[in-house]
Amino acid sequence: MGLILWVGVFLLLFNFSNALRKIDQPEKVSASEIKTHFLSGKVKGVVFEIETLNVQWEEPANNPPAIKKFIARAAGQGHFNELVALAEKEKIPFDPAPPPNYFWQSLLSNLLWVVLLVVFWIWMMKKQTEQVSGRGGPFGFGQSKAKLIAQKAEKTFADVAGCEEAKEEIKEIVDFLKNPSGFARLGARIPKGVLLYGLPGTGKTLLAKAVAGEAGVPFLSTNGSKFIEMFVGVGASRVRDLFESARKLAPCVVFIDEIDAVGKKRGFAIGGGHDEREQTLDALLEELDGFDKNCGIVVMAATNRPDILDEALVRPGRFDRQIMVPKPELTGREMILKIHARNAVLGPEVNLLEVAKDTAGMVGADLENVVNEAVLIATRKKKDYVEQSDFSEAVDKVSMGPARKSVKLTEKEKQRTAYHEAGHTLAAMLTEGADPVHKVTIIPRGPALGFTKQLPEDRHSITKKELEAMVAVCVAGRAAEEVKFGEITTGHSNDFEKATLLLKKMIYELGMDEETGMAVYKEKADFWGNPTGLDASQKTKELLERAVKTKLAKIYNDVKELLVREVNKLDKLAGQLMEKETLDANEIRAIINSS
Ligand code: ADP
Ligand code: ZN
Repeated sequence: MGLILWVGVFLLLFNFSNALRKIDQPEKVSASEIKTHFLSGKVKGVVFEIETLNVQWEEPANNPPAIKKFIARAAGQGHFNELVALAEKEKIPFDPAPPPNYFWQSLLSNLLWVVLLVVFWIWMMKKQTEQVSGRGGPFGFGQSKAKLIAQKAEKTFADVAGCEEAKEEIKEIVDFLKNPSGFARLGARIPKGVLLYGLPGTGKTLLAKAVAGEAGVPFLSTNGSKFIEMFVGVGASRVRDLFESARKLAPCVVFIDEIDAVGKKRGFAIGGGHDEREQTLDALLEELDGFDKNCGIVVMAATNRPDILDEALVRPGRFDRQIMVPKPELTGREMILKIHARNAVLGPEVNLLEVAKDTAGMVGADLENVVNEAVLIATRKKKDYVEQSDFSEAVDKVSMGPARKSVKLTEKEKQRTAYHEAGHTLAAMLTEGADPVHKVTIIPRGPALGFTKQLPEDRHSITKKELEAMVAVCVAGRAAEEVKFGEITTGHSNDFEKATLLLKKMIYELGMDEETGMAVYKEKADFWGNPTGLDASQKTKELLERAVKTKLAKIYNDVKELLVREVNKLDKLAGQLMEKETLDANEIRAIINSS
């Protein structure tokens, strides 16, 4: 609206200043006509402009304005000189300077432009200040997009589970925020910056919100990537704005998500220039150093890559407190499920501990998703409450994607898929060190035509045997197809990718191969984190690659042998799968024991 108004005013002034010029616009005359005028005896005076070879003169006119002005361009220097001579001869007074009143006119019209610009500029400044008070506009480049999310306690520690150590460590900060000066009195040193690190969805944002909520202070949140914009200097000014707001609101929590977007390790800037990110990082460091540690601002930042952060950022007095937010373990998962199921109507037989067992490897955000899906599934089925089976389906959906009911497999494809999955299942059940199978299905879901779900235990370290068993289970699908049909299909590409990755990890990084030994060979990365290849000699590389291939071939052969030996069980499992489409742990065990 305001913009339209301004465009209007602008156009008006533009026309006006042009009109002003026009009042005094001399009549344009062709070069050949100049002499006729000079010889007419009416010319009152001439102005010669040498640089542009312009000739201007005035003649009396009949009607007002009483003087008529003319202008013409001389046809060349010779013509110009001739005209000067003619004026001299005709005794017409002439002058090389522009007439003063023309000068004033042009000054006046230029002044209009200046006024216009000044007014425009003032208007822009006003817009900017409006933004500080929260109203938007098109020119607010420098404004931090920090949102004031929770003025009042919204989340508390009761909303967070599965990261008890992190919660414990963070409680101290709540005490500080509740009483900053009291804390200072006893000389306690409170970190200015707390870095939360962990996988996405583990609850880092939630923890920061809970800190603000518990302390009853405002929560200012922003994202590191918002600092990095096209315009140089914008990021830095946003950082300053953010802290400016924080100072006004203190005590408060400032939360910067994805801090790695700003805080990546610095390199040697190409061309010696400071790039936008570095300026932003500098501004951030400056702000962190600048504020008094007892002023009641706690800066919390989150990342899932603490290893790529610039050392300057994690130096004492900055983000010197680092707290890991881990993936939740069994009890943690159960508690998180309980938190999110608070408002769900659950059936009497629902056992969230079982759901927790079924969701190994999931983070808080996934678990929240599982509860939501379960409720949706039950609602869609018009049930009065959510049942265990709804949770089970929700877990599959969250981990594998929705079931693809539209996919119609041919009988042949179905058989193949059944043998493929039966292969995974049998290998998992019969290989020492493999995780037991929880469920196997040939209902297509997400990109997979079927899947075998194992139940890993919460482990903190894995043995070589267990890793090899994982690889064996991965390749067993294809092995079963080969055993049964003598040919292989495309359905297993992901299996082999996983198997190869596991083996690479074992051989390259964990020193788990007899021949290549105990050295660690890691991918090198450049400053931006892009891989630049393996940190090893060409000969070693070849050795490593060969080791992976040999090992994979050996494991594959062993699995094939196992499946040939147990082909009865394989047939029976596949047959049952074709019939029932899904088998649970008990059914699987019964089939294997019976044959
Ligand atoms: P992050 O910041 O680590 O990526 P978030 O805090 O944004 O993760 O988590 C997203 C959502 O997932 C949260 O709002 C919360 O509902 C749920 N969630 C994640 N972790 C937990 C947890 N430990 N306890 C309870 N809920 C969680
Ligand atoms: Zn498979």
